Amino acid sequence: MYNAKAYSAATATSPLAQTTIARRDPTDTDVQIEILFCGICHSDLHQARNEWSGVMPTVYPCVPGHEIVGRVTKVGSGVKKFKEGDLAAVGCMVDSDGTCGECKAGLEQYCPNLILTYNFPDKHTGGVTYGGYSDSIVVDERFVLKVPEKLDLAGAAPLQCAGITTYSPMRHWGVTKGKKVGVVGLGGLGHMAVKFAHALGAHTVVFTTSPGKTDDALRLGADEVVLSKDANQMAKHAGSFDFILDAVAVAHDVNAYINMLARDGDLTMVGAPEQPLPVSVFGLLFKRRSFSGSIIGGIAETQEMLDFCGEHNITADVEVIPIQKVNEAYERMTKSDVKYRFSIDMESLKYA
Ligand code: NAP
Ligand code: ZN
Repeated sequence: MYNAKAYSAATATSPLAQTTIARRDPTDTDVQIEILFCGICHSDLHQARNEWSGVMPTVYPCVPGHEIVGRVTKVGSGVKKFKEGDLAAVGCMVDSDGTCGECKAGLEQYCPNLILTYNFPDKHTGGVTYGGYSDSIVVDERFVLKVPEKLDLAGAAPLQCAGITTYSPMRHWGVTKGKKVGVVGLGGLGHMAVKFAHALGAHTVVFTTSPGKTDDALRLGADEVVLSKDANQMAKHAGSFDFILDAVAVAHDVNAYINMLARDGDLTMVGAPEQPLPVSVFGLLFKRRSFSGSIIGGIAETQEMLDFCGEHNITADVEVIPIQKVNEAYERMTKSDVKYRFSIDMESLKYA
């Protein structure tokens, strides 16, 4: 074991603060990574504040962070894909059983024995996993990804969660040229969804509660922008969408979006509000619509998404911050004031 510097939350109500955590020394199949950038996902805030207590209660201290890019500093003797000095990335998962049907299908995110990057049992240390708000991390090479060299690293970090979480359902539901696609909520996930829907050739419509984001939405690749509080603008799109991705972090009216789907259209939730959402079944019945959910994506698909981003030069639009500003960033996230992802420059942790 060795000591790593990190930022953690001590309780659901305490601000994140600097700490020291124990990491394992790399085993034969492990890759040790010096973390250069880590994105801030709204899931980090949900979990630091124990907002998902009903589903996955937070164990404290909690070190969030699952949008990690860095340089390999050490590899185990059996590691084949990486060598010292390589760029490497880690997303939301660090282990799975590798033997179940889900893992064999490349869908590790649905493995019953999935281990997430933080707040999950850590078989090596006996505690819980600690995430990327840290100077380093040690991960089995099966869960380490290759980052295209040409991508800006601060903007590439968020691809590991915001990127794959929006790319995967769009691929699953066949987003392509000729389809009309909606994106609800222009935050970290939403702005990546717009970039992907546009790159895949779909007619892309953004639904936002923030009038000030209209120009950005168009610049990011949207064909149309709808202010969701304006009933007239909303009514124009009734029954017209093939697919809508909802990336809102708080409770809101999903029925308004279900009613915007065409026959056989699908609304996928990737946003994970703390509270249950009421669904009007009649909205589903009459046009054989579906209402579904999706989490992240498998490792092979995450690599496919990273390669797609390399080809299309896609990264997140980031505001780079030092780790000392993480609590301020969380507050701004609760006010939808992020353009469009915070990316922590981990160099700042050296001077903490
Ligand atoms: P974020 O950057 O905070 O974006 C959320 C966006 O939701 C805001 O920017 C805002 O967009 C919109 N919004 C906020 N308050 C709203 C309200 N009252 N009514 C309607 N819209 C509102 O969050 P994020 O990091 O993208 O994460 C979004 C959600 O996805 C979180 O719940 C997160 O935990 C979840 N998530 C799920 C997965 C998965 O695998 N399924 C992965 C990562 C994250 P506008 O200003 O445009 O309205
Ligand atoms: Zn995330």
